[in-house]
Amino acid sequence: MEGSREGVPPPNRRKRKALGSDGVRVTMESALTARDRVGVQDFVLLENFTSEAAFIENLRRRFRENLIYTYIGPVLVSVNPYRDLQIYSRQHMERYRGVSFYEVPPHLFAVADTVYRALRTERRDQAVMISGESGAGKTEATKRLLQFYAETCPAPERGGAVRDRLLQSNPVLEAFGNAKTLRNDNSSRFGKYMDVQFDFKGAPVGGHILSYLLEKSRVVHQNHGERNFHIFYQLLEGGEEETLRRLGLERNPQSYLYLVKGQCAKVSSINDKSDWKVVRKALTVIDFTEDEVEDLLSIVASVLHLGNTHFAADEESNAQVTTENQLKYLTRLLGVEGSTLREALTHRKIIAKGEELLSPLNLEQAAYARDALAKAVYSRTFTWLVAKINRSLASKDAESPSWRSTTVLGLLDIYGFEVFQHNSFEQFCINYCNEKLQQLFIELTLKSEQEEYEAEGIAWEPVQYFNNKIICDLVEEKFKGIISILDEECLRPGEATDLTFLEKLEDTIKQHPHFLTHKLADQRTRKSLDRGEFRLLHYAGEVTYNVTGFLDKNNDLLFRNLKETMCSSENPILGQCFDRSELSDKKRPETVATQFKMSLLELVEILKSKEPAYVRCIKPNDSKQPGRFDEVLIRHQVKYLGLMENLRVRRAGFAYRRKYEAFLQRYKSLCPETWPTWTGRPQDGVTVLVRHLGYKPEEYKMGRTKIFIRFPKTLFATEDALEI
Ligand code: ATP
Ligand code: MG
Repeated sequence: MEGSREGVPPPNRRKRKALGSDGVRVTMESALTARDRVGVQDFVLLENFTSEAAFIENLRRRFRENLIYTYIGPVLVSVNPYRDLQIYSRQHMERYRGVSFYEVPPHLFAVADTVYRALRTERRDQAVMISGESGAGKTEATKRLLQFYAETCPAPERGGAVRDRLLQSNPVLEAFGNAKTLRNDNSSRFGKYMDVQFDFKGAPVGGHILSYLLEKSRVVHQNHGERNFHIFYQLLEGGEEETLRRLGLERNPQSYLYLVKGQCAKVSSINDKSDWKVVRKALTVIDFTEDEVEDLLSIVASVLHLGNTHFAADEESNAQVTTENQLKYLTRLLGVEGSTLREALTHRKIIAKGEELLSPLNLEQAAYARDALAKAVYSRTFTWLVAKINRSLASKDAESPSWRSTTVLGLLDIYGFEVFQHNSFEQFCINYCNEKLQQLFIELTLKSEQEEYEAEGIAWEPVQYFNNKIICDLVEEKFKGIISILDEECLRPGEATDLTFLEKLEDTIKQHPHFLTHKLADQRTRKSLDRGEFRLLHYAGEVTYNVTGFLDKNNDLLFRNLKETMCSSENPILGQCFDRSELSDKKRPETVATQFKMSLLELVEILKSKEPAYVRCIKPNDSKQPGRFDEVLIRHQVKYLGLMENLRVRRAGFAYRRKYEAFLQRYKSLCPETWPTWTGRPQDGVTVLVRHLGYKPEEYKMGRTKIFIRFPKTLFATEDALEI
């Protein structure tokens, strides 16, 4: 990627003063306007590159001018403007096509184009990893990238519909996987990795999506000010009368217990009715038949009916279903026997010594079973939906020779570090994911730096950095890691509790420098830790997790007879979601944490096999307002995104590197021997030039194709000389 970013600046452009509009020195090519050049466009050019204050000041200056993009070398940092800046038009796409990074202001499309060109010319798979906290703009960036490729890439010879499918898969996934939260009105409640496949002519011919850890607890509970997944509201607002009648639904979301918990069915920024139309159309584009749409909506409706299913206790305190009407609809929509479902919602089947025993549930247990069913039905349907979209995105040319020569461009839109007042199992999984990605990032950045030095024949100088492998091991190691210990406790039903899990953690990993509990803490730190908590010292800082619910969430139990009932479903989608093989006693399903760990390891392998590019998204304020730059909030994100570490690694050796041809072209006027033309080897020309400029030996190194400059001030001085 590096090579393509260092093209020759166009010769005839007017030279501008090398000072930004606010007097800050910049070293950009002269095609840029003064406004484009506020602050530094690449953090590696900050004089005081270890200062977080200088880093944030540069972000602020640029943000004030609506310059939301800034680089750290090849990494793009983006600040959510919360307003439409009109910077993603077709003209903008054209402006960034085929030009080198430094000729144009930093932009997402510059990354898009660079990645695409590398894919085409080097024929190497690429991956753009987009990270940041909730509301920072990851999903918007992903959508803009997809749009860029859909609009600027050539159309494939066959199967042109794949472009539409790639774009249309998004509203469907968002309807089922996104929700309004306090942080973001359209928050993705799952992680997503999407591959786009290109044929040898650079036309998109297929795609594939992997999804991670849908937040299914949202199906049955939402915090105040939050909503359930968009699809429920869309269906109620936009669904046709006849559809709603068939599904036994009323229009008013207030009628449904699963939709009223957050008390905010209506959101001003969301138009459920028109979104419904978009989703309905998109389903057709991604190959849903009318029958499949019906089956899918039956499932959505069944979740709402489940939420309204109530129980009363009989004289023996056993739960009985009291809402016959709901049961009637559920029976039909889920495609199961009424009596079986009734029994499954109020009893638990236990197999002891080969005999089946039915044990009645009390009220609390029945409500738990009902909610577990709703979550299982919804999340498995989501998994099915992803698989269905993948079938529609699969390249139809799988057998043709062009298939074999496809290259892949991956887009990763995954949750960032989460630190709340109260952190639970979900945050534990998400933050573990971030540790893994940080580890990969450091590894790949160092590796690519090292590779470039090697390719250029420059001695590699070891970089001091924090290797967070120790934290990844703490979480994922076999036998001794937190996940292993959690799984072990999940194998002791009836005996183990969240607190015995915590005790086991204390016994096993008490010595670990990144792990702490109330018992292990000293007097000073104990105050801030409760008895039911453990604290991890993540690369980005400390996070305290409350163990309540860890076992339950990790087990993700669905009573056996509910599973059996669902396996008999005549709804074709549910038939695929619930498989009889699960009922075998021999096969114990993997726990949630272990499944997640395995899918993450797989993701890391996928990403490692590709050339990486990074977009780091920052949210400027908590009130979703344009123009507000909340410094405290931003400082946190700079930390959690590891940006200072990133800059340090990037700056460890040389701040700046440039191909000899480009360097000579730009500065040849500063030396009588190289001006107006240098006829020898560019490298020799640069040698003559820098000697003339008085560069000291420790200030630069000459590689095979590039000059490496250690400090920005050397370059600034040279830039200044141009102006004289
Ligand atoms: P989550 O982790 O919750 O899914 P996210 O990082 O995906 O968050 P987005 O949904 O992409 O966040 O962005 C949140 C909102 O911010 C968008 O709905 C949009 O209103 C605004 N936004 C994000 N990026 C941009 C942008 N580049 N230009 C204008 N508005 C933006
Ligand atoms: Mg998102």
